[in-house]
Amino acid sequence: MKILTIQTHSGEDLIDITDQIKESVNESGTETGVCCVYVPHTTAGVTINENADPSVKTDILMALRKIVPDSLPYTHAEGNSSAHVKSSLVGSSLSIIIENGNLALGTWQGIIFCEFDGPRRRKLFIHTHPCLR
Ligand code: ZN
Repeated sequence: MKILTIQTHSGEDLIDITDQIKESVNESGTETGVCCVYVPHTTAGVTINENADPSVKTDILMALRKIVPDSLPYTHAEGNSSAHVKSSLVGSSLSIIIENGNLALGTWQGIIFCEFDGPRRRKLFIHTHPCLR
């Protein structure tokens, strides 16, 4: 397993980590298999979406803020309940198919680390599994 450290820069931050994941897949030498990306945090997550136009990331954050307002009567005393809910909505892991030594991502797809209670130093676990025939 490989562990990456990600420094986020604001309260909410969507960070393109596609190149780091591709590098890990290359290092693993896996030709055919699955890459598992896992975020071991309760107020962050990981997702796949467009990374070509940065306005998509802005829109995702805007929509999540609308769906999960900070103003609800939350009971969690830490005061970061909206971040916990956003983390659950986005999810904490991905499984990405590896073909011919590369991630089988679509043309416009990128892997995006989602910070909802930053800025913080975060961890990301990456595990590649070769497929046996
Ligand atoms: Zn909390």
